[in-house]
Amino acid sequence: MTLCFGRPYVAIPGPSVIPDRVLRAMHRPGPNIYEGELVEMMPALIGDLKAVARTRHNVAIYIANGHGAWEAALSNVIGPGDTVLSLCTGRFGHGWTEMAEALGVHVQIEDFGMRTPVDPNRVETALRADPDHRIRAVLLTHVDTSTSIKNDVAEVRAAMDAAGHPALLMVDCIASIGCDQFEMDGWGADVAVAASQKGLMVPPGMAFVFFSDKAAQVRKGMTRVSRYWDWSDRADPELFYQYFGGTAPTHHLYGLREALDMIAEEGGIEAVWARHSHLARAIWAAFDCWAASGPLEMNVKDPAHRSCAVTSLRIGAPHGTALRRWTEEKTGVTLGIGLGMQSDDDPNADGFFRLGHMGHVNAPMVMGALSSIQSGLMALNIAHGAGALEAAAQVISEA
Ligand SMILES: *Cc1c(COP(=O)(O)O)cnc(C)c1O
Repeated sequence: MTLCFGRPYVAIPGPSVIPDRVLRAMHRPGPNIYEGELVEMMPALIGDLKAVARTRHNVAIYIANGHGAWEAALSNVIGPGDTVLSLCTGRFGHGWTEMAEALGVHVQIEDFGMRTPVDPNRVETALRADPDHRIRAVLLTHVDTSTSIKNDVAEVRAAMDAAGHPALLMVDCIASIGCDQFEMDGWGADVAVAASQKGLMVPPGMAFVFFSDKAAQVRKGMTRVSRYWDWSDRADPELFYQYFGGTAPTHHLYGLREALDMIAEEGGIEAVWARHSHLARAIWAAFDCWAASGPLEMNVKDPAHRSCAVTSLRIGAPHGTALRRWTEEKTGVTLGIGLGMQSDDDPNADGFFRLGHMGHVNAPMVMGALSSIQSGLMALNIAHGAGALEAAAQVISEA
């Protein structure tokens, strides 16, 4: 059931809330795709997009979701029979791994479990054990949206450099872009994949692959690259349609233009990161209080390795599903499911839920979601510590 009064709030970790401004920007007749406004707005849009990823290198745009960006990125620099090293800290790391395997790539997995970040020492050891440099790329998920673990990209780069290994560093930034600080050039990522529907506040349907000049060189050495996924023309088109390998995602482009304007108006990407960090600290303060007595627990213990875009919670079956149902039916707040957390004891991951706090979020939305959780804990008689809402309000007061 959906409540028909007030605004429902889908607080899942993507797709995120679409700003009215973005919706309005998309609500218009179809434009001419051969000349005029849409064609003319592309260079600035590409520049602003690169600024959000903190890169001076290249970007290719695809009409796709994040899975498309995964395949696009791999298709340009990795061929069947090649080897990659995949660093997994949750469901999405494994998802990218499976995508690579389906493309005939040999994947060496380093699994760090569901609660702790990538250990760079293990990365260095794995790369040192590859003196012939058969590993062509290291796959890393910056923020794994299932576990809410945030990995340290710069540390992984440092481990690769310490091992003297030439592999490309490929980073999944789908959840983190526009939420958690990400520095593509500064942290030495060669490829970064992103999508429109999380921190970038645009409906699902557009994906981005940022790539360094080094990655572009690797692409040039490939014997065969899928015509559709090939990033070469998309990143350096002579004709407008080459940006998209065909018809442009017309309305998504207007939506993205508006979203990038909103980021600029807020004060640029640093201001956006600071807002996410502030709101995330308020959310963690509340969860810390609730966790003080009762079954609720944040999945990631170390705040330094928690994402500012999503928080994954453990509460024990069946409370996670019961709480999600209650907040949606009684308060109009939809919480995220426990993704990738299934076990023999909890085959449907009923003991987990997630709160998305990515993109178009502010203090009243966060306080509203937390209040709904508080009410749900009370209504369902789930034991919890006191003072959570007070603690969140305190953090918000420290603006
Ligand atoms: C959402 C997400 C994906 C998948 O994106 P889709 O658009 O659902 O295909 C991949 N990786 C991460 C980290 C994500 O958050």
